[in-house]
Amino acid sequence: MKQKTQPSKTSPSKRPNKKEKKKYDQKIFLDWCKACGICIAFCPKKVYRAGEDLKPVIVDADACNGCLFCQLHCPDFAISIEERVMFKRRKTDV
Ligand code: SF4
Ligand code: SF4
Repeated sequence: MKQKTQPSKTSPSKRPNKKEKKKYDQKIFLDWCKACGICIAFCPKKVYRAGEDLKPVIVDADACNGCLFCQLHCPDFAISIEERVMFKRRKTDV
């Protein structure tokens, strides 16, 4: 008879998450921005809000899903979206 294997003793929350959500950083070149509001109005994650000069202010950078809508639709090429690179410490690092 085949024996049943024991379930893993490591709880799911303690296992390393290989599918960690990617994060993105937004760079806004305010000198190029003409405050049209496209990025603010159409960001699906509400990453921006309008500042006093109606130019975008980043209010929730971590919510960005990297869809690139703002970068591709900014008429003045004033936004750049880049994937955030996370460096993990190795055991051999001092
Ligand atoms: S890439 Fe998409 S989610 Fe991220 S800030 Fe731009 S429009 Fe919003
Ligand atoms: S879409 Fe571009 S020009 Fe328009 S508000 Fe956003 S950053 Fe400024």
